[in-house]
Amino acid sequence: MQALAERLDAELRGAEVTAAEPLGFSGLKTVVPGPETLAGLVVRGVDRRAKYLVVHFEPDDATAPRVLVHLSQAGRLDVERPPKRTRAKGSVVRMHLRDRDGDEVALLVREYGHERKAAWWVLAPGDDGPLERLGPEPDSEEFSELVLHGDDRRRVHTILRDQRTVSGVGRGYADDALWRARLSPYASLASLDDTQRAALLDAVRAVLVDGLERERGRTGGLSQPKLGEHFEVHARYGTACPRCGDGLRRVSYESHEVTYCPACQTDGKVLADRRLSRLVK
Ligand SMILES: [Zn+2]
Repeated sequence: MQALAERLDAELRGAEVTAAEPLGFSGLKTVVPGPETLAGLVVRGVDRRAKYLVVHFEPDDATAPRVLVHLSQAGRLDVERPPKRTRAKGSVVRMHLRDRDGDEVALLVREYGHERKAAWWVLAPGDDGPLERLGPEPDSEEFSELVLHGDDRRRVHTILRDQRTVSGVGRGYADDALWRARLSPYASLASLDDTQRAALLDAVRAVLVDGLERERGRTGGLSQPKLGEHFEVHARYGTACPRCGDGLRRVSYESHEVTYCPACQTDGKVLADRRLSRLVK
């Protein structure tokens, strides 16, 4: 998401919105201000907060609206030069702009599959909308304090996925961070010693930095990467652990599937699949 925001920022900064055209029934999550109020606004910059892309307009956020885009699992963004008129299946919104050089450009948000979860918001000046509920970013002091000294009794994996506790990690990076820190997917934060906590903090930050590096090196469409292209262990169960060569396994809990290496993370112990064992009972 960070790399995507950087690329959009380079494309669209200084561009003037000519129209924002909603294309789906359920994509737009706000009513007021309406998308028509965006016409004439100049893009000040594009960045990211958690998994939201944030489009800022001139002169500043206190007096101009902001646009948020959440791509969810299957959404993607296309920059169209020149803009198209077609209405591709799964289209959510097409924003038409005139860029710094006076050329017409459009930003199309669309979604593949049937989920219909990709969404966008037009936030009134000063309104944080869904950003209000987000926890601190992983590189903040606040997150560092939580990991090194917090007494949260939940599992680390649950904590990392909870956007109200820390924003922008998600389950893929949670798998990779636990693997890097050699921690069990079932470890709770309160049970970790100081060394493990420090390793966890380093691991979370490292997987995010490395993920961003890989993304910055990508060319082509502005889609989200496919699973498995992007992560070290997440969703790679059945293949060899990149560190020790043993087989990666998966375990289900809380309706999530976690990939881990028994040799590196659980002293060789294969974790019981809680969903499966419930069924067996
Ligand atoms: Zn291993």
